[in-house]
Amino acid sequence: MPPPITPLAQPKDDHDDLVFLEEHPAAPAVPGARNVWRVMIIDDDEDVHSTTTFALGNLDMQQRPLEFVHAYSAGQARELLKHESEIAVILLDVVMEQDDAGLHLVRYIRETLNLADVRIILRTGQPGYAPEIDAIRDFDINDYKTKSELTRIKLFTTVTAAIRSYEQIRKINDSRRGLNQIVHASTQLMALHGVQNFASGVLTQITDLLGQDGNGVLCVQECPDDGCHELMVMATAGSYRHLDNTTLCNVEHKHIYDAMELTLGQRRNVYGPDFITLYFAGKASRDFVAYLEVGRAPTEIDERLLEVFCANVAVGLDNVELVTHLHNAAFYDQLSKLPNRTRLVEILDATLSGPARDDATLSLVDLDHFAETNDALGHQFGDTLLVAVAGRLQTQLGGQLTVARIGGDIFCVLGDSSQVNPANILALFQHPFSIDGQDVQLSATLGLVRLGEHEGSGADALKDADIALKRAKSQQRAGHFYFSRSMGVEIRERVRMMHALRTAFGQNQLFVVYQPQIDLATRRPVGAEALLRWQTPDGKFISPDRFIPIAEYSGLIIDLGEWVMRTACRELVDLRKAGHQNFMMSINVSQVQFRHPHFLEMLRKALEDTGAPPEFVELEITESMAMEEPDLLIKMLAQIKQTGVSIAIDDFGTGFSSLSYLQRLQIDRLKIDRAFVTEITGSARGSSIAEMVIQLGRNLGLAVIAEGVEDERQAQILQALGCPLAQGFLFARPMTATALNGWLSNDALEGAA
Ligand code: C2E
Ligand code: CA
Ligand code: CA
Repeated sequence: MPPPITPLAQPKDDHDDLVFLEEHPAAPAVPGARNVWRVMIIDDDEDVHSTTTFALGNLDMQQRPLEFVHAYSAGQARELLKHESEIAVILLDVVMEQDDAGLHLVRYIRETLNLADVRIILRTGQPGYAPEIDAIRDFDINDYKTKSELTRIKLFTTVTAAIRSYEQIRKINDSRRGLNQIVHASTQLMALHGVQNFASGVLTQITDLLGQDGNGVLCVQECPDDGCHELMVMATAGSYRHLDNTTLCNVEHKHIYDAMELTLGQRRNVYGPDFITLYFAGKASRDFVAYLEVGRAPTEIDERLLEVFCANVAVGLDNVELVTHLHNAAFYDQLSKLPNRTRLVEILDATLSGPARDDATLSLVDLDHFAETNDALGHQFGDTLLVAVAGRLQTQLGGQLTVARIGGDIFCVLGDSSQVNPANILALFQHPFSIDGQDVQLSATLGLVRLGEHEGSGADALKDADIALKRAKSQQRAGHFYFSRSMGVEIRERVRMMHALRTAFGQNQLFVVYQPQIDLATRRPVGAEALLRWQTPDGKFISPDRFIPIAEYSGLIIDLGEWVMRTACRELVDLRKAGHQNFMMSINVSQVQFRHPHFLEMLRKALEDTGAPPEFVELEITESMAMEEPDLLIKMLAQIKQTGVSIAIDDFGTGFSSLSYLQRLQIDRLKIDRAFVTEITGSARGSSIAEMVIQLGRNLGLAVIAEGVEDERQAQILQALGCPLAQGFLFARPMTATALNGWLSNDALEGAA
C-alpha cells in the first residue's frame, strides 16, 4: 500500500479539472495504458526522484493518476525511451554525466526518436547556469526551472500545465497542419529577445495562424488586485499602431478595453463575431491579453489551435522574461550596466570578422590607485566613481563605440582608431570627477591593441591588451602601451622560462656565488655579495638579469629569495667558523620580496635558524625601489633595522632620490652603480656622478662602495675621490662558497701584499 498522503493546499491559480485525492488509487501500472499520465523523471540525484514523486503523487487529472518512469542518467533514459511510449511529460535534469547531458538528451528525443509530443521540463541545480536560448527554442522545451525554484506547488502547477499541453497536442494531433504551425510559431517567438519583441511576435503569429490581416493590440495587466486595472500596451499591429507605448482606458477605446477586461476576468479566450481576445496566464500578478480584429469567426479547429498556442505562449512570455534576465546577468555588469567581459569577447569576435576590423583599436583602461581611493573613501563612493567613469567613457569619446567593464577598475573601449587612442582617452582624465560635491582626480593606464594587426580570437585580443597594459604599468609614467607581436613572442618565451626556472629551483640547479668586496686602501676583503646563479643541465648559464624579473613576475622570488637568504647566512656562519670574523654578507632583496607581508618574519627566522649575526648581514635594495611609496618604505626600513641588519642602496645614481628623502631613510651604505664607475676614467676632470655620490655619502654619514671596478685606474681614481670600498672583476669574480674559502685564505692575502 502506498503511504497515505495529506492533501496539498490548493495553489492560487489552480485549475478546475485538478482533483486532489486523499489517497493514491491503486491503479494498475500498465505501460502504454491510456488510463494514466506517464511522467518520466530523469535525474542523477535520487532525492530528486523521491521528492518529485512525493510532490506529484496525488495529482490526478480527469480521473487519470500519474505514473512515474525513472531514469538516473542520460544513458539510461535513452535506453528506456526507445521502448517506452506515451510519456506525457519528461522532467529532465540538465547536468548529469556531463554539464549538458540533458540538452543532448533533448536533441536525441526530438531529433533521433522523433518524439514531438512529449512535453519537456528542464531543471537545473545550478542557479548560475543560463539556459541556451537556442536549445529552448529548437527543441520545444516547455519550461525551464532551477531546482530551487521548483517548490512543491510550482512543480505541481508546472506539470499540470505540461500535461494539459500534452493532452491538447494529442487531441488535435490529426490537425497536423495547425500543430506544425504552432510549433513553428513558438520557435519563431523564442528567437526574439525581450518581452516587447516577443509580444509583437505573438501578434504576428496569431494573425498568421488565422490566415488574416493583422489589426491587433497586446496588453499586460499589472497588479490586477488593487482595482486599478490599467492595461499597458506592449505591442500593436496594423491599424492599432498608434497605441504603442500607451495605456488603455475605458473611455477612448472602450470596446477593446471591455473585451479585454472580460477575457481577463474569465481567464479564457473570448471569440466575438468580428474580434477575438486571447488570454495568456502570466506569473502571479501579471496576465497578458491580446485583442484582434478578425474578418470571419474562427472555426472550432482555429479555437483549439489558439488555445494550445496561448498555453505555449504564456509559458514563453514568462520564460522570455526569465531568459532576458539571465541573459542580462550573464552579459552585463550590474553596476555600470555596461557589457561585461563575456559580452565584450563576443563583440570583439564580431568586430574581428567584420569590415570595421582594420580601423579598430581595443584599449583597456585601468584606473590608477583605484583600490586606495576605494579604501579611503568607501566602497559606495568607489561605486559611484566607477559609474561616473563609465559615463564619461561612453559619452565623451563620441561615435559608435563599445565601452565595457571587465574588472573591478578596468574598463575597455573598442572603436575606430581615430577615437580610441591614448590622446583621446587620457584627455578624459584631465578633469576631476565630481562625486557628492567632492572632486576626485583620477588617472588611467592604457593597454592597446590594433585589431587590424591582430591575429586570433577576441579573447586573444583581450589577452594581448592585458599584456600591453602590464607593460605600460611596469614602465613608470608610460601611461599607455600598444601591443606588438614581438611582445607576444617575448611573453611566450617568458612563460617557458618561468616553468624552466621553477623546475630548476626544485631540482637544485640554482646555486649562490659570492663576489668579494674589498677595502681600497688595504685591498683586503671586508665582505662579499651573494649572487644567484642558474646553470641549465646542458651547462649554459642564464643571467640573473633575465631570470630574476621572471621570478619576480611569477612570485617564485619569494621562495627563491628566502633560499638565497638562508644559504648566504649559512655561508657567513661557516666563514666565521673558518676564522673570518669581520666579514660582511650582502644579500640582494627584490621589491616583490620586500613587499611581501611575511618578509620581516622570514628575515628574522633566517637569522635565527642559521645563527648568522645580524650586524654582519646587509640587505641591498635598489634605488628605484627606494623611491616608490616612501612612507611604506620608511616604516619597513625602521622595522628591518631593529633586527640589527644593515641596508645598502644598490645601483645608486640611476634613480632620482632627493636628498631630504634619503635622510629620512635609515640606510647605511650607498653602492655606486657600475655605469658611473666605468665612466669615471672617461670624464675629463674626474668630476663625475661617482664623485658626487661619494661626497653625498660623506655628507650624510653613509658608507660608500663602488661596484664593477674592472681596472686599476678606476680603483685609484675612486680611492683618490675618497671612496673606501670596492667590488669588481679587478679584485675577484663571483665564486662558489668553496672557492671563496680558498680565496680568502690565499689569494686575498697575495692581493693585499
Ligand atoms: P647587482 O646587484 O647590481 O649585482 C652586481 C652585478 O654586477 C653582478 O651581476 C656581478 O656579477 C656584476 N659584476 C661584478 N663586478 C663586475 C665587474 O667588474 N664588471 C662587470 N661587467 N660586472 C660586474 P650578476 O650576478 O649577473 O647579477 C645581475 C643582477 O641580478 C644583480 O645586479 C642583481 O640585481 C640581480 N641578482 C643577482 N642575484 C640576486 C639575488 O639573489 N636576489 C635578487 N633579488 N637579485 C639578484
Ligand atoms: Ca646587488
Ligand atoms: Ca648593483
